[in-house]
Amino acid sequence: MTAQVEYLTPTQQDGKTQHGKREAVLDVRNLKVYYSTPTGDVRAVDDVSFKVYEGEILGLVGESGCGKTTTAMAILRMVQPPGGIVGGQILLDDVDLAPMNERELRNIRWNSLALIPQGAMNSLNPIMRISGQIREAIETHEGKQNSKKIRERILNLFTLVGLPSRIYDMYPHELSGGMKQRVCIAMAIVLNPSLIIADEPTSALDVVVQRVVGQTLLDVKKRLGVSMILIGHDMGLQAQLVDRLAVMYAGHMVEVSPVGTIFKEPLHPYTQLLIESIPSIKERKPLKLTEGITHDLRNPPPGCIFQARCPKVMDICRSVKPPLEEIKPDHYVACHLYD
Ligand code: SF4
Repeated sequence: MTAQVEYLTPTQQDGKTQHGKREAVLDVRNLKVYYSTPTGDVRAVDDVSFKVYEGEILGLVGESGCGKTTTAMAILRMVQPPGGIVGGQILLDDVDLAPMNERELRNIRWNSLALIPQGAMNSLNPIMRISGQIREAIETHEGKQNSKKIRERILNLFTLVGLPSRIYDMYPHELSGGMKQRVCIAMAIVLNPSLIIADEPTSALDVVVQRVVGQTLLDVKKRLGVSMILIGHDMGLQAQLVDRLAVMYAGHMVEVSPVGTIFKEPLHPYTQLLIESIPSIKERKPLKLTEGITHDLRNPPPGCIFQARCPKVMDICRSVKPPLEEIKPDHYVACHLYD
């Protein structure tokens, strides 16, 4: 029999989704990441600003190529040439990561900032036992440890992410996809980071396992109070897991709001189309198609980046770039419809 997996939404868990007076763990300001090509710079992330508050999950969504993964890689300082950060600040606990060198970054990674990668299979060492891989992560940052204590610590981690103790001496190929992904979650939280970036952590898993891994992320957030950025394109999963949602389009942040608000009242025309495109099992409706194509990011037009596909485009949209502004409390939108 298939196990019934129930989600607790962020609201049910915390009783609130508003960030209220919580402190920002991450404050990204005017971030620009360009890729240099022989025909010009591709502006993969162009002047993006957002915050992640203490103990919240921020969902980062948008179509493929919108810049969400590049934004995450920039925060982790893992953008590879010909890409590079050309402007902005990445303040993690008030310390700017953007100008740091490799040696400084080594102290930050895992200790303060951890990644749950997309493909668990590719990120685990196939010839090392699970316990050995977690032990290595701990000892790289904290030095040699007492064997008994480290075993206890790893078994506690397993309990936290819902893994059985019998996997301690197993190799990655002996685990299911969901178990491997939970090992990656365990490795991400082992050093108590302030922020975890989860890059489509459930994308290669079947629907039931997706929900188990999703629930594991919620449990970790609730028990450790860690902040997370959850990158994804599955709007249903985002609706169930995140506290606030940030929507990107063609390298720009177009809307940021508490998740309940954005699903109830999306304000940006792109977010509206994104939400309308979610299939419903209750109501059969034709899928809404968006006309036009995304602009060439080497040569973006003046004005709004969404103008070529926007059903509500106006004259001003073709000449003036709309800034991301707070239209309603905690609801930010970059669109001239709300000027
Ligand atoms: Fe559409 Fe204009 Fe708003 Fe851009 S600024 S999303 S083109 S209405």
